[in-house]
This record gives sequence, structure tokens and C-alpha cells, in this order.
Amino acid sequence: MGIRTGQQFLDGLKDSREIWLEGKRVEDVTTDPKLGRMAKTLADLFDLQHDPMLHDDMTFKSPSTGDPVPLSFIIPKTQDDLLKRRKALEITAEAHHGILGRTPDYVNIQVTATRQMAELHGHTDKRFGDNLIAYHEYIRENDLSLTHCFGHPQVNRGVAVGQQPDPYIPIGVVDTTSEGIILRGAKLLATLAPFSDEIFVPPYRPLRGKEEEMYALGFAIPTATKGLSFICRESWDTGRSTYDQPLSSRFDEMDALAVFDDVLVPWDRVFCYGDVELHNHIVELGIMWRQYMQHVAVKNIAKLEFALGMTHAMVEAIGIGVHAHVQEKVAEIIDTTETVRSYLRAMEADAGPWMGEGIWLSPEPTIAMRHWAPDAYQRVTDIMQQLAAGGLMLTPTEADMESSIRPVIDKYFQGAKIGAYDRVRLFRLVWDFIGTQFGSRQILYERYFNGDVVRLRQGRFQTYDYSKADASLAKFWQETDQS
Ligand SMILES: Cc1cc2nc3c(=O)[nH]c(=O)nc-3n(C[C@H](O)[C@H](O)[C@H](O)COP(=O)(O)OP(=O)(O)OC[C@H]3O[C@@H](n4cnc5c(N)ncnc54)[C@H](O)[C@@H]3O)c2cc1C
Repeated sequence: MGIRTGQQFLDGLKDSREIWLEGKRVEDVTTDPKLGRMAKTLADLFDLQHDPMLHDDMTFKSPSTGDPVPLSFIIPKTQDDLLKRRKALEITAEAHHGILGRTPDYVNIQVTATRQMAELHGHTDKRFGDNLIAYHEYIRENDLSLTHCFGHPQVNRGVAVGQQPDPYIPIGVVDTTSEGIILRGAKLLATLAPFSDEIFVPPYRPLRGKEEEMYALGFAIPTATKGLSFICRESWDTGRSTYDQPLSSRFDEMDALAVFDDVLVPWDRVFCYGDVELHNHIVELGIMWRQYMQHVAVKNIAKLEFALGMTHAMVEAIGIGVHAHVQEKVAEIIDTTETVRSYLRAMEADAGPWMGEGIWLSPEPTIAMRHWAPDAYQRVTDIMQQLAAGGLMLTPTEADMESSIRPVIDKYFQGAKIGAYDRVRLFRLVWDFIGTQFGSRQILYERYFNGDVVRLRQGRFQTYDYSKADASLAKFWQETDQS
């Protein structure tokens, strides 16, 4: 099929998928009042690939057919491949101003990175590596949209995966048949689930040993598989206008728990099974972030530029740019944006071979950005809140704007260089970015979507190569003793 249009993407979502939202099973995610506008947003992103001005920058020739396929599926072999992929990611990220974390290119890159390690996945059973290669080709050639799930339900984080009150709270193997493996349990947290064609579940978290073998899994299946259901959080798209809810109305990518009720995963969709040692080795290598962090950096730059644009407009709107501390705080957002740009350059410029096929982002800037970005984003939103102040509450609705009170609004809600209508619209946008349920979810997303920094940093402490740091101190003592 090659690259899909927005309409083809929407048509693909009309199947028997089981999506639960606010107490009801959704009949059609493309027309549902709480999901439909987000489906349309994603469809518009698929259409970008068909824009004659953007097509060449978003696609490359399929190694199988020669037809154009999305660049997020390229196995990078050179720096130039990485830069091409970056350009495609930028087009998408700039189209949604960095608001969506989970455009399909995100998981496409994760699957591509996993496929780069196909040989490793096939270490004990070659079939699993071959399955990965075939699966990567299948989703590439059909331009599919994927959700993905890592963690097990947040029931008891004080004990191991295999020590939960029910062995099938995490996803575990119930049985195997000639057709495949039967799975029961649940996985979090499937962002984009209602708008996905497939769910990808890679190996996650080291297991304790043979007794947890039933959890040593990696696989992918269609979202509409029998027995698979998704329980969504409430929708932040409440049907309000784009004036009232500029972001919630168009960009609610949705999060869900994926529930597996004796789901059959065919053997040809299994990438890892039953080998705890290999499973743990795959987890410890941290394969996927060595590629998808390029996506994260590109998205963060688009988002920070948007945040800076909003902040700059607010400062102008209410004339606070004359104050030194305001200038200093805006400059901090500029510095944060430019820092991410530097991380991106460094991870690409120092990319090189590692394991498996192709090249990989340079790990050190990639890890450092992964650990630093959540706090940096929180700080940006704190600055925006501090500069907007009470203005975030002086935000009458579109209905007020259209009512007889409008002349009063025009007088008291105007800004230094901006009329009331536009000033209120700007501050409503900022509130949707940092303060509404949608805005709070954005902040939570940036803190956790990429894992728990607390635990990631514990791992950093335990595995970092201290040799240069230790040698520096040893040299200092030597110099001191000789002086
Ligand atoms: C908006 C959003 C979207 C997301 N989208 C996706 C997605 O699409 N796919 C996906 O797979 N995941 C997704 N995630 C999940 C994300 O990966 C997790 O939230 C993250 O890994 C943290 O896990 P948790 O939420 O289960 O928190 P928990 O692990 O339950 O942590 C809760 C608290 O307990 C502490 N804690 C727990 N265990 C330990 C420990 N062993 N040692 C030290 N401290 C501990 C943590 O530090 C934290 O403070 C998303 C998360 C959010 C918020």
C-alpha cells in the first residue's frame, strides 16, 4: 500500500476494536464526539506525506517495492540517513507544535530500532528474529499507526512482577498452542490506543529468573484482536470550541490501559518468548531509546518554540517586558530550547555503529537529555504561569465574546498592544497548555512518558564509567603531594 492518506487512516480505524470511554464502548472512534476531532488531527498528519512540497522530505524508497514509505522506518546507516529522518520528524512535530507525543512516527522508530537487533532476538530461536524483520516490513509497507505498552498495572510496586496478588495482573502466558501463545493480564499505558492499528509490546523490566518466565515476552498484534480491550481515561475534548479549548479540542491523544483476556498472539507475531536470560539482556541493552530520542528532541524543540512564542506574545500583550526579571525568565526558556537543539546535534553528530544493523544515536547526550528534560519542561511551565499570573483567570469564553457584555470585555480585557478578543484567546491557549486537565496531562506526560527519571538516574549512578572522574581526582592528589 505505501504511504496512506488521512482518509485511508480513518477508514482503517473502523473495525471491531474494543475501546471503553466514560462507561461506554465506543462504536466508531472516527465519529465519536470525544475522540473524532483527534482522529481528524492525525488524519491531517497522514495527508502531509502526500503534499507535493513535503512528500520527498517525509518518505524514502521502500527496500522491498521501491515505493515511497515513511522515513520513520528507515534503518539509518549514515549520518545523512539520520538527518533525513530528522527532517521528516520536524515536519510532523511542527505541524502539531510539539503537543502530540505519540504521532505514529514515534513507535515506528521503536520497532525499527528493535528490528535493527533482529539477530539478537533470534539468538535462541531464529523465528523470532525473522518475525521482527517481517513485522517491520509489514507496518512500513502499510503505513500503520501503533500504540505501545511497557509497564504492568500499578498495583504493588513494592514487590516484583511475579509477586502481584494475581499472577495475571501483569501480562503472562496462559497456554501455548500450535497457533500461538495465549496471554492474560494488562499493560500500561497505551497512549494513542483508540487511533492505532496495532499494539507493540516489547520486553520490559528485568525478570528475577525461571519463576517469572511466563512474563518474558515481546510481540505485536492488531488493536482489533479478539479479547483485547482498552480502558481509556476520560476525554479532555469536551466538545467546546477551538476558541475556548484551543488544544484540548484538537490534540487529546488519549491514554488507556490495555487488557488481554486470553488473547491469542500468533507465532509469527512473537519476537521474544520464554527465555528469561535473553529477555533480560534485551531490556538491559536499552535498544529503543538509542533511536527514538531523536523523535523526542525534535518534538521538544517544536514544543519549546511554541511555548516561547506564547510567552513572548504574553509579555508583549501586557507590557511586562520592561521588567528585568521577566527578561531573565524569557531568556531561560530560550536557553532551554537551544539546549535541546544542542543535545539533538550531539546525538546525531556522534552517532555510529553499536550492535546489530545500522548506526545508533550517541548514547551520552541522549541519556543526559532524557534525564534532564522532564525538570526543564516543568520549569518552563512554571515560568509561563508566573508571567501570566492572574491573566490566566481573566479568560471569558467565546459565548461571553458573542454576548451583550462584549463592549465591557473590550475595555477591560484589552492588552498593551492587543485587543480583548485576541488577548483572551492567547491566555486561554496558555491555560490549556499548562493549567487545564489537558495542560496538566502535558506536564505529567513530559515527566513520565520516557520512564521514571528517579530509577533511570539510579541506573546511571550504578553503571556510569567513572574512570576519567576518578583519574582526575587521583591526579590532583598526586600533584598536591608533589607541590
Ligand atoms: C501521559 C502519559 C503517557 C504515557 N504513555 C505511555 C505509552 O504510550 N506507552 C507506555 O508504555 N508507557 C506510557 N507511559 C507510562 C510511563 O512509561 C510510566 O508512567 C513511567 O514509566 C513510570 O511508571 P508508572 O507510571 O507505573 O509509575 P510507578 O512505577 O508506579 O512509580 C510511582 C512512584 O513510585 C516510585 N517507584 C516505583 N517503583 C520504584 C522502584 N522500584 N524504585 C524506586 N522508586 C520506585 C517512582 O519513582 C514514582 O515516584 C505514559 C505515562 C504518562 C504519564
